[in-house]
Amino acid sequence: MISLANKVIILPKSEACLSGPSMANSTEIKEFDVIILGAGPGGCTSALTLRNSGLRVAMIDKSSFPRDKVCGELMARKTVVTLESVLPGFEKEFKNFEMTRVLKHTRVHFKGKVLQFDWVSESYTCPRIEFDNYMLNLVKSSTNTSVFTATVPDVLTRDADGVTLTIKNSNVVFKSKMLIGADGANSIVARQFADKTINRDHYLGSVRAYYSNIKDMDSTVSEVFFNTRFQFNYLWVFPVRGNQANVGFGMVSSDISKQKINLKDAFYEHFKLSPDLGDRFHDATQVTPLEGFGVPLGSSVGTTSGDRFVLVGDAASLSNPLSGTGMGNAVISGKLAAEQAMKCFKKNDFSGEHMKLYDDSIQKAIINDLMASFRMQKLISKMPFMLDIVFWLGKYDRVKKYIQSVA
Ligand SMILES: Cc1cc2nc3c(=O)[nH]c(=O)nc-3n(C[C@H](O)[C@H](O)[C@H](O)COP(=O)(O)OP(=O)(O)OC[C@H]3O[C@@H](n4cnc5c(N)ncnc54)[C@H](O)[C@@H]3O)c2cc1C
Repeated sequence: MISLANKVIILPKSEACLSGPSMANSTEIKEFDVIILGAGPGGCTSALTLRNSGLRVAMIDKSSFPRDKVCGELMARKTVVTLESVLPGFEKEFKNFEMTRVLKHTRVHFKGKVLQFDWVSESYTCPRIEFDNYMLNLVKSSTNTSVFTATVPDVLTRDADGVTLTIKNSNVVFKSKMLIGADGANSIVARQFADKTINRDHYLGSVRAYYSNIKDMDSTVSEVFFNTRFQFNYLWVFPVRGNQANVGFGMVSSDISKQKINLKDAFYEHFKLSPDLGDRFHDATQVTPLEGFGVPLGSSVGTTSGDRFVLVGDAASLSNPLSGTGMGNAVISGKLAAEQAMKCFKKNDFSGEHMKLYDDSIQKAIINDLMASFRMQKLISKMPFMLDIVFWLGKYDRVKKYIQSVA
């Protein structure tokens, strides 16, 4: 039996916060088998997967929860299917969660035309401030993980004995045999252990705001609006709680600089460029400021593991280069990372060579698909008339049915 997330902001007994004024001078060492850095969807899935492993697990996050994460919040079916496989009962509880919306259709808008897809698989939205807190509460209620929030890591080191992690403004030092880096787009594990830097050709800059009162919005329909002014990029409108929608826009970072685009201006320009969109938003209210965040795209994944560590989700650059979505792959890689940790303890082998099993598993489960999406993204960017072809073919029912069954 799993429990629903509660929305009350109380630090439960199982949660501690360590960053802050130091009370003592002596160093306090906290030892675990596995440390998971980051309590987003990827990190929480690792913790849930490890719940019956017998391993001593710590999950450390720099933020206090509930915390927001800028995101489009459209969740592919595979996210829920993976979580159900990790924690039986998840799907039913999640679909009953008051903040979850079940979506069944997508409307694609281009040059004033609309193409509707009625998907075989449903998708979901849930505001990240609610969803991530829901996941963290599942970790607290279903596992023995020691959770440390508002705990900001400083320096990471590795040696023959394991991983050591110091905490900013604290005398506490964490030690473990293995580290799962699930600390998102600005991962310090990726930076300090894998020498990863941002590659602007494979990185999305994106912005998002919540709107209410959008004309003709249907809570079961996700909508995307293409405009040739911005090459292959779309403005999304995804229904979320109440009568609100998550509305956003993103572009590859190197294109933003080459074309000297101000992303926030470009976002608002959409409403002027597309009369249909302008009309729909005429009486709508923007309820939150436009906020930006980066998305490391899986068109260039690079290093995903090494001696004593693996990277998960955005820390491993696993977002889809065609759609910009990454929660599904964060969850899948979180599960695979935890399975790798169990293999490491079984063989007592934490070497980079042994971690290659993890690289192989994400290659098969995730990266092959990402490369196919990347090829499609390149094709559409180079040949924008492809969208005209898709719209032209879309009037044929058989083609539409085919797309609906494979997507
Ligand atoms: C504008 C935008 C729109 C998007 N739209 C979608 C969408 O519609 N659907 C979709 O599936 N994906 C979308 N994505 C991508 C999605 O948000 C990410 O792929 C997903 O959040 C990755 O999950 P994660 O667990 O790897 O990392 P995150 O969700 O980023 O979680 C990382 C966690 O690590 C913590 N952390 C960060 N640094 C440290 C540190 N140094 N030490 C400790 N903790 C740390 C953070 O506080 C956070 O809790 C979008 C992204 C953006 C920016």
